Amino acid sequence: MKVVTEIGEYRKLRKGMPSPVGFVPTMGYLHQGHLALVQQARAENKTVVVSIFVNPTQFGPKDDLAAYPRDPERDLALLEKEGTDIVFMPSAEEMYPEGFSSWVEVDKVTDRLEGAFRPGHFRGVATIVAKLFNSVQPHRAYFGQKDAQQLIVIKKMVSDLNMDLEVVAVPTVRDPDGLAMSSRNTYLDPEERKAALVLWNALSLAQELWSKGERNAERLRQEMSALIQKEPRAKIDYVSVADPDSLEELSQIEGTALVSMAVRIGKTRLIDNITLG
Ligand code: AMP
Repeated sequence: MKVVTEIGEYRKLRKGMPSPVGFVPTMGYLHQGHLALVQQARAENKTVVVSIFVNPTQFGPKDDLAAYPRDPERDLALLEKEGTDIVFMPSAEEMYPEGFSSWVEVDKVTDRLEGAFRPGHFRGVATIVAKLFNSVQPHRAYFGQKDAQQLIVIKKMVSDLNMDLEVVAVPTVRDPDGLAMSSRNTYLDPEERKAALVLWNALSLAQELWSKGERNAERLRQEMSALIQKEPRAKIDYVSVADPDSLEELSQIEGTALVSMAVRIGKTRLIDNITLG
């Protein structure tokens, strides 16, 4: 495994890389969710490239950029075990040199949900992912279903800007009790960790009601919200039952629906989702 910090150095290596090249972009502090992406990339490609970069432009002024957890040594040991070929770990200056002024903006699907609560977030995400794609030049890139809206935004960008690669979605990896794995779970104290299960409980309730035939989306939103509100440590940002392509809120579920939520547990903001149908 080789660790590369500069785009110029990576480009030299890229010329000799066996194809196809599979790429997993991450912000580090890796857990089994990230490793599931790496494992799938390993199974489907000749070369596996993983990036670790805590992207400052996707954090808002009130977000947790400075406090975002970091442990590069542990990350590298985990990636080595998974058979990663190259780890691309650029500095902030390498990705955003002085005078940087070009941005990628994906309209419409970024207006809702995470986009509505985190202004500028997806502009930062789309820009860094476009820069990473241009630098890494992968044939396939792997993203978690955990960040469902991010996946939609990246797919739209790749299609609209004719980027020559395949975006692969990987199912959400959960702790045994159902909590979706996230680097941010490390912020939770033991009481908050228990309270955080309310996200999975609400999603499970939606799944159960849907399985019994409930197709009224507002009813699902209400039932999930009521369940979350019973947990005193939880504060809802949004609870959504939306069209999985446009992300518009549904009144009636006819085909598939993306059920998603953002809930703050103490100071930690958690997101999760499932797809119905
Ligand atoms: P992050 O480091 O949080 O930016 O995440 C990097 C990638 O890992 C993104 O594509 C995430 O969607 C994915 N990811 C994060 N958590 C999970 C999880 N629990 N299961 C599957 N993929 C995940």
